[in-house]
Amino acid sequence: ELQGSVTIIVLGASGDLAKKKTYPALFGLYRNGFLPDNVRIVGYARTKMDHQDYLNRVTQYIKFGEDSDKLESFKELLDYVSGQYDDDTSYQNLDQFIYKSEVERSIDAGKRNRVFYMALPPSVFVPVAKGLKRNVYAKEGINRVVVEKPFGMDSDSSNHLGRELSALFSENEIYRIDHYLGKEMVKNIMNLRFANVLFGHAWDRKFIDNVQITFKEPFGTEGRGGYFDEFGIIRDVMQNHLLQVLTLIAMERPISTDSEAIRDEKVKVLKCIQPIAIEDTLLGQYVAADSNPGYLEDETLKNKDSLTPTFAAAVCWINNERWEGVPFILKAGKALNEAKVEVRIQFHHVAGNLFSGSARNELVIRIQPKEAVYMKFNNKQPGLSYQTIQTDLDLTYHQRYSDLHIPDAYESLILDVLRNDHSNFVRDDELERAWNIFTPLLHKIETHDSEVDIKQYAYGSRGPKELDAFVKKYGYHRDEKADYTWPLQNVNPSAN
Ligand code: NAP
Ligand code: NAP
Repeated sequence: ELQGSVTIIVLGASGDLAKKKTYPALFGLYRNGFLPDNVRIVGYARTKMDHQDYLNRVTQYIKFGEDSDKLESFKELLDYVSGQYDDDTSYQNLDQFIYKSEVERSIDAGKRNRVFYMALPPSVFVPVAKGLKRNVYAKEGINRVVVEKPFGMDSDSSNHLGRELSALFSENEIYRIDHYLGKEMVKNIMNLRFANVLFGHAWDRKFIDNVQITFKEPFGTEGRGGYFDEFGIIRDVMQNHLLQVLTLIAMERPISTDSEAIRDEKVKVLKCIQPIAIEDTLLGQYVAADSNPGYLEDETLKNKDSLTPTFAAAVCWINNERWEGVPFILKAGKALNEAKVEVRIQFHHVAGNLFSGSARNELVIRIQPKEAVYMKFNNKQPGLSYQTIQTDLDLTYHQRYSDLHIPDAYESLILDVLRNDHSNFVRDDELERAWNIFTPLLHKIETHDSEVDIKQYAYGSRGPKELDAFVKKYGYHRDEKADYTWPLQNVNPSAN
C-alpha cells in the first residue's frame, strides 16, 4: 500500500535523466493509478524556465499512446522552482513553495512526506544533500532520498560519500538506485530459485560447473567518450549491475522476503568473494572496423592514449560451502556484435554417461532484450533414430504472455520508494563490499600496472579473440557437435 500523501522533488529536473527516465516513470505510475492521491511533483534546478518550457522539457520522452488526456492531467501535478545548489535562500524558497502546496492540498501535519530524487551529477550530491537537510527536510512527515550511481569511484571515495550522506540522512531514508534491480527478469531470479524445488536443489557446486553473466552492447561511446573514459566498463556496468545479478544468483535463501532479510543475504555472499585478481581478467578496447570508429577516435575523448577498458571479462570466486570452485564469469563490453544481457548457468557433464558426447545442460535467463528463461537439455531424436540431440524447454515471454506489459525499471523502483520497500535498493554495507571486490583491480588498471594488458578487438566483433580460450580455461564447454538451433530464430527473427 502507498504511504499517504507525498511531494516528490526532482533535483536536477532540467537534466537528461529527469527527462528520459524520472518523469516518464512518474507518468507511467500515474497512468496506472500507482501515484498516491494528492501527490505533487516539484522540479528544481538552476536553469530558468517558464512553466510551459518546463512541461515541454520533462514530457518530451513520454510515450502516452492513447492516453493524451492522462498526460494533460499529469501535467497539472507538475511545478518547477529554480534555484542554486549551494545557497540556503534558494532552498528556503523551495521549502516555502512545497509547504504552501501541502497546505493547499489540506495535508495534515505528520503526513507531509517528501521524496527527494537526486537526478544530479555526483559533484553536487553532497552540497545538495546538505542544503536539503538544513532547509527542506520535512519536520512533519517522512523523508526519503533517492540517489543515482555513481556511488564513488572506488572504496575510499565511496566510503567518503557514504559518511557525508549518513551524517545527514539515516540509512532508512536513503534509496540507492541500481536500475538493474528494477528489471523484470532480475526480480524473477528469486522466484526461479526459491519457488522451484528442482532449481533449488541443483543450485550448487555439485551440479553447476560455471556461471556466465554477460552484458553486450552493439554500439561504442559515440560522443559520450568524455564521460565514459573516467569510468570504464567495469564501473559502468560490472561493479554495480552485473555484481547485483551475481549476488541474487549466489546468495543463500533469505529467511523471508523482507527487505533487510534479502539484503543481509546479499551482504553475506559478497563477504565470501575475494577481490578480483588481475590474472582472472581479460580486458579490451575496441578499434575501428567497417566504417565504425575505434574508441580512441571518439572526438569527445580527451586522452587519446587512454587505456580505459571498453570490454572486460572478470572471474569471481565465492569461498563458501555452496560455491567453492565454481567460477562466476562476468563479461561486459561495448561495440560488440549484439545487444544482450543474460545469465548462463552451465551444469556438469553427466557422470558415466550412457549417451556419450551429449551436451551439458544450460539454464539461460535472458534479461534483455526479449525476456526469456530457457533450459538447454538432451532428448532422443524423435523417430527411428536413437541419437541424442540438444534441444530446449523455452519460456519466451512475448510468446507465452499475451498483452505482456513489462514496466520500465524506474517505474518499478519509484513505486518501491513510495511503498517504503528497500528490497531493490543497495544498502551501505553492500556497496562497501562491492567496491572491495573491484577496487584493487581498478587501481591496477589506472596506474598502468605492468600486469595490465588491454587487448584490441574490432568494433562489431564478439570481443577480444582471446575470449573463447579465456572462458574455456574456466570450464565453459561450448558443444559445436550438439548442432543446436533455436527454431523461433527463423520463424520470427525479430523475436531475438
Ligand atoms: P546531467 O543532465 O548532466 O545533470 C542534471 C542537471 O544537473 C543539469 O540539467 C544541470 O541543471 C545540473 N548540472 C549539470 N552539471 C552540473 C555541474 N557541473 N554543477 C552543478 N550542476 C550541474 O546529468 P544526468 O544525465 O541527468 O544524470 C544525473 C545523475 O543520474 C548522475 O548521477 C548520473 O550518473 C545518473 N544517471 C544518469 C543516467 C542517464 O540516462 N542520463 C542513467 C543512469 C544514471 P541546472 O544547470 O539547470 O542546474
Ligand atoms: P549462443 O548464442 O550459442 O551462445 C552460447 C555461448 O557461446 C555464449 O557464451 C556465447 O558467448 C558463446 N558463443 C556464441 N557464439 C560463439 C562462437 N561463434 N564461438 C564461440 N563461442 C560462441 O546461445 P544459445 O543459448 O545456444 O542460443 C542460440 C541462439 O538461440 C541465440 O541467438 C539465442 O538468443 C537463441 N535462443 C533464444 C531463446 C529465447 O529467446 N527464448 C531460447 C533459446 C535460444 P557470448 O555470450 O560472449 O557471445
